[in-house]
Amino acid sequence: METKEKCPRCGQSAMQWRIGLTKAGSTRYRCGLCKRDYTPNPKKWMYSEEERKVALRLITDGMTGRAVGRTLKMSKANAYRWATEVAKKGTMKCG
Ligand SMILES: [Zn+2]
Repeated sequence: METKEKCPRCGQSAMQWRIGLTKAGSTRYRCGLCKRDYTPNPKKWMYSEEERKVALRLITDGMTGRAVGRTLKMSKANAYRWATEVAKKGTMKCG
């Protein structure tokens, strides 16, 4: 599928292909001319407080970081990080 993105390396807007997503969910592109892969609008690992609460709740209930990541469709690494936070604090603070 061709797009209207512009290659950051050669500046061409022709032959820019969507090649998938980054781990953070941003669309990745490849320049068909110079073969460079790039991400025009990289997302950061940002989650809402609501998502965080749900994740922490699941972790506190005994779910693994991996399962939480799968359930909430977020990065496993992120879920693991929160799981580690919970482990450090011992208990989850509500509100
Ligand atoms: Zn290019």
